[in-house]
Amino acid sequence: MALFDHLTVSLNLSADQAMHLLHQGPHSAYLRRHRSRQIYSRVQLMAAIFAVLTPLWAIIDYFLFDYPVWLYLSIIRMASAMVFLLLALPWKTEKTSMEAYGFLVILTSTPAVFYLFALDMFGDWESFSEASKIAANLYSLLPFIILAGLSIFPLTLLEVLLLGIPSIAFLAYGELSTTDYNLWSYVGTIWLAFLILGASTLASINQLRYMMTLVSRASMDPLTGVFTRRSGTEIIDVQFRVAARQGSHFTVGFIDLDNFKSINDTYGHDVGDKTLIMLVENLQRHLRRADNIVRWGGEEFIFVLPNTDTEGARIVIQRFIDEWFGERPDGKPLTASIGLAERISDKMDDWPHLVELADARMYKAKEGGRARAVICGDEVMAGDINKAKIPSDSGLPN
Ligand code: GH3
Ligand code: MG
Ligand code: MG
Repeated sequence: MALFDHLTVSLNLSADQAMHLLHQGPHSAYLRRHRSRQIYSRVQLMAAIFAVLTPLWAIIDYFLFDYPVWLYLSIIRMASAMVFLLLALPWKTEKTSMEAYGFLVILTSTPAVFYLFALDMFGDWESFSEASKIAANLYSLLPFIILAGLSIFPLTLLEVLLLGIPSIAFLAYGELSTTDYNLWSYVGTIWLAFLILGASTLASINQLRYMMTLVSRASMDPLTGVFTRRSGTEIIDVQFRVAARQGSHFTVGFIDLDNFKSINDTYGHDVGDKTLIMLVENLQRHLRRADNIVRWGGEEFIFVLPNTDTEGARIVIQRFIDEWFGERPDGKPLTASIGLAERISDKMDDWPHLVELADARMYKAKEGGRARAVICGDEVMAGDINKAKIPSDSGLPN
């Protein structure tokens, strides 16, 4: 762990950022989407280039290899070109991260499979002319092309290794069966492959890190660190469509802080800002990791609860009103008026109407006396705010 800490400090990374670079587990839905799009579009670009170059090289094989070797090679070339062509075709545009990664696996394993077939072809290596031997040796570059090619994708460490190590294994196997076996040149070749994999790993991870910075700058509210309205809208749109397709529950909540202006007026805008940060920290504490928070406007927030029905939402709201969102500078609990709406119970076909309904219910909560939630069926949930148990570590940030 000390080594890990040392590394993250010297690379100027937080532990959380470092985990994001290791594997995609902690990536937000928004980052996943952005990354899938980029991986997929680069797979298509590479596949299109290979779809042209792979069959073209058959001309060179024709001149360098005797019949039937060149014919077999062109058949595998045509088969590979077909796979590349299929990858390059514009399938449906939106890709999940698994689909994008799957396409990348096909892209990188096609040359590897091709390489294995070609090795098989070169079985009677000894009978080859010098020119054919040189040409056959070019085939051992294929694993290197895969390893170097990985550098153009924004991948996590785990992903680069999962894609790169098999290529090195192919190379190790192929080198054993083609070259006149020489331990030192063999070790040198494998060593070179690891060096290239190392360089690609750094390039891939750097791209991922760069993407994370850009995505978070463009999509996160600088004060509170939650999604901005613009990026939040995109997330709600996607998640709503997923819920509609799967027929699953989907709840949104609209939050407007109570008497927030008076904090600004009495204690200043800075304290107001810190109150907003405190609200978000407490909201995050009350919600699950898969739930998203969006800053909709000044002190209005939306929280999104996928796969959550009214019963589930009721539990969340109960958690809110038991503790509220920390302590206001005047010592009272920081309360809010909350409106909820759920896709199925409220029979909503699109998310803007769902948000509109949650907003309307939030107004009902305000009109009803604040510090309460109006949930589906216009049911009101309110606690005795004098009994709210404000946890000691939920106060204003310094
Ligand atoms: P109500 O209970 O009716 O909601 O009362 P309220 O005082 O909260 O009224 P309202 O929602 O109209 O007040 C919103 C206030 O939020 C007004 C605005 O000055 C303040 N505000 C909006 N964005 C920010 C911000 O980024 N920082 C700070 N400090 N204040 C903000
Ligand atoms: Mg407001
Ligand atoms: Mg307000």
